[in-house]
Amino acid sequence: MAPVFDRPGFWGEPTSTLDWCEENYAVSFYVAEFWNTVSNLIMIVPPVYGAIQTVRDGLETRYLAAFLGLAAVGIGSWCFHMTLKYEMQLLDELPMIYSCCIFVYCLYECFKHKNTRNYLLAFILVLFSGIVTIVYLEWKEPVFHQVMYGFLVGCLVLRSIYVVTWVYPWLRPLAYTSLGVFLMGFILWNVDNILCGNLREVRQKVPFHLLGALTQFHAWWHILTGLGSYLHILFSFCLAFGLLSGWRHLLRSTKRHRKSRSLKNNKLYLSPWESMCQILRSWCLVSERFQRNHDEKKQRDISDHAKFFVFIFVKHCQVWWN
Ligand SMILES: [Zn+2]
Repeated sequence: MAPVFDRPGFWGEPTSTLDWCEENYAVSFYVAEFWNTVSNLIMIVPPVYGAIQTVRDGLETRYLAAFLGLAAVGIGSWCFHMTLKYEMQLLDELPMIYSCCIFVYCLYECFKHKNTRNYLLAFILVLFSGIVTIVYLEWKEPVFHQVMYGFLVGCLVLRSIYVVTWVYPWLRPLAYTSLGVFLMGFILWNVDNILCGNLREVRQKVPFHLLGALTQFHAWWHILTGLGSYLHILFSFCLAFGLLSGWRHLLRSTKRHRKSRSLKNNKLYLSPWESMCQILRSWCLVSERFQRNHDEKKQRDISDHAKFFVFIFVKHCQVWWN
């Protein structure tokens, strides 16, 4: 990384053990990595809506913890990329481990009855989090954190594949979309690290704000992992409450929200949560059909579902952003 691209800024010299490819203080004097900071909104806003909805519907605390954990990662990451201070880096990286442990708990307990507790699994995950925290505070090696985080994500991937292969095959589209989106984010995270020099040179030669934003692949990592994690919580939720009860819950919550919908500038306004509900509802409708005839014409159906999902997603994005 060539420091010549960086500028001085409000928060002073970076003290974090990592400094990402985005040029420091290039967009704002007050925000070290502007695009890497604002892209965290997708990890903050939808999970907060999810958490509020979980409380309103009196659902289990584990889902509230999962949504809040994801939002905490987004807030920590916002603070880290805005300041590039070591303390803020910890506020980003340690909640990644804690929230992933919550996801692991939710997914490994997905077949249990409501309000049951697995104290052994909870103890193991708390112990794991504690050990990672202590070791990482002493041994400030980012690769250690990345390997530990990768281990937890690996546990989630293996469990998800097991569940949709042997127990709920009709939830494959949702599970694989979540995993695929996350994987795409991981690929872009690597591209940002490996090709940083080339990316910085390209950004110098073209209008910065236009291409500068689009080629910030670490920001894309935030967006894609935020979306992938959100879909993962919904997947976990669908497993625990059963497809139909999960669907009914979403129908109710969408119905309730329908009252709050309003016309703004003659356009229908949908909150991020409502959009996600609509998307998942569409998923469940299609997945039910998939459940009935998944043995026949399997490949063709999967491709139809993928097209349908993209159509619904794009449609809601249009409504949301216009
Ligand atoms: Zn980041």
